[in-house]
Amino acid sequence: MKIAIAGAGIAGSYLARLLQEKGITPDLFDGVEHETTCRCRSCGWGAPTGIGKYLALAGLDFDDYLMEPMVSMNFDGLVAKTPLCTINKPRLLRALGSGLTVHKQPLKIQEADTYEVIVDATGINRAILPQCRSDLVLPTVQHRVKVEPLGSEHLEAGVYGNRIPGLGYLWIFPLGQSQYHIGVGGIRLDQHESILEQFYAEHAHRFIFTPICSCRGVVRVASPYYSAPLYASRTREDGSPQRVIGVGEAIGTVSPFTGEGIVYSLECARLLVDTFPDEKSYASKVLARFWWMKKERETLDYLLSEGRASGPRLRDRWRFFRNARRSGIGLPIIEAFRRMGSLSRWVENP
Ligand SMILES: Cc1cc2nc3c(=O)[nH]c(=O)nc-3n(C[C@H](O)[C@H](O)[C@H](O)COP(=O)(O)OP(=O)(O)OC[C@H]3O[C@@H](n4cnc5c(N)ncnc54)[C@H](O)[C@@H]3O)c2cc1C
Repeated sequence: MKIAIAGAGIAGSYLARLLQEKGITPDLFDGVEHETTCRCRSCGWGAPTGIGKYLALAGLDFDDYLMEPMVSMNFDGLVAKTPLCTINKPRLLRALGSGLTVHKQPLKIQEADTYEVIVDATGINRAILPQCRSDLVLPTVQHRVKVEPLGSEHLEAGVYGNRIPGLGYLWIFPLGQSQYHIGVGGIRLDQHESILEQFYAEHAHRFIFTPICSCRGVVRVASPYYSAPLYASRTREDGSPQRVIGVGEAIGTVSPFTGEGIVYSLECARLLVDTFPDEKSYASKVLARFWWMKKERETLDYLLSEGRASGPRLRDRWRFFRNARRSGIGLPIIEAFRRMGSLSRWVENP
């Protein structure tokens, strides 16, 4: 079976690798020149250490990609234990792509006719599938920064929602060797840079921040359910049908609350390999596996809605708590509920 994968990001490269192990060698296309210093799409590189089991399936060793563990993190002033870390994503992408031929060009639709299946793994671009049923995106700005303490303290890993007007957060992810990813993401937000500048100014008496690079990005926080169709049929020039199947962020496998998409893109690619080439079974498995993303998305819709009478409802607070638990973050339930209360204040007083 001839398969083309458009997009050699995390989902597309991992998928190609797993298919190859099954004896199917797809053609991989990626024509996008990322204008970032790391040559990848903008990303914080945060992941749960559980990513190791996905890497093992591709014959890779997690330790080769681990940059810095985030054993404890500050969530708006509450320090909690986490299984999170940062990974060297550019190195991981190179490793996933090694042994595969990546055509350095976008998949041209004329050439695409020769394939039986086309996989849309183009992330936020969703270049081949039709539009999402109801898209929602989170614009971001991220800096890579060298941070030198003026005293003996070090800058702790953290996620701060209370610094953002409306729905969003500021993240601080350590990369080792005194370097950090510090970024801001916010739905309908346009003050990303000034929020970062304010953060540096407030901490200038404790640290010297030296910028290394900066990039803008966008994350699809629509959820797979609202990113339907997850697959489609295309008519070739000779009138025959051709299947197009989406994978990864192209079909919204990203946590709407946190923007975390690396590990879920890997999981999504694994589901596609397990069900290949049965796209219907694949789509129902994706919706079942990531059902909670639909719920998170509905909380965002509720909090963004104009005529909303009050702050987060009990179900929104519960989803927030479940999100932390799913990521292995040990937030006590009462505290998590209380924090969600402060989220309502940010929404109400942007
Ligand atoms: C600022 C920011 C910070 C983030 N931080 C984190 C984080 O810390 N942890 C986390 O888990 N997630 C994070 N995410 C989300 C995460 O990066 C993505 O969800 C994840 O990379 C999705 O993988 P993917 O392979 O589906 O898509 P992508 O990684 O976007 O890969 C898509 C690929 O398709 C290629 N492409 C695009 N258009 C075409 C085309 N027409 N033809 C061929 N190729 C094409 C692109 O070049 C790219 O290589 C962050 C996102 C942003 C924007």
